[in-house]
Amino acid sequence: MLKEISVSSSRKQEILDITEEINSIVKESEVKEGICVVYVPHATCAVIINENYDPNVMLDIVESLNKNVPEGIWKHDSIDNNGAAHIKSSVIGPSETIIIKNGSLQLGRWQDIMVCDFDGPKEIKIFVKVMKD
Ligand code: ZN
Repeated sequence: MLKEISVSSSRKQEILDITEEINSIVKESEVKEGICVVYVPHATCAVIINENYDPNVMLDIVESLNKNVPEGIWKHDSIDNNGAAHIKSSVIGPSETIIIKNGSLQLGRWQDIMVCDFDGPKEIKIFVKVMKD
């Protein structure tokens, strides 16, 4: 089953928790054992699985990327001034794969699924593929 959903970022850099949406899609699929792939088809976005119970974890991840990938010094900036956003999204990557067992995503107690936008605001398309064993 393939589903396409979208979320909107409202700032240049934003992390949006999409765990509930992905859980709903897995439930709707009725797949009990399999895998779920979450993929963003945007060159300045990424998908991350990490802690969102303490939102400072995600703020720290963004801050570490900002420190390591400064704005305004990249060759691509002459095209559309977002070289840093492309690098940050490449470091994290455009997708995550999660195991489905007994009909539910096998996320750890502190893990959530989030979409990162490094060059917003914009509407972010997300593909969710659920596959049975
Ligand atoms: Zn660009």
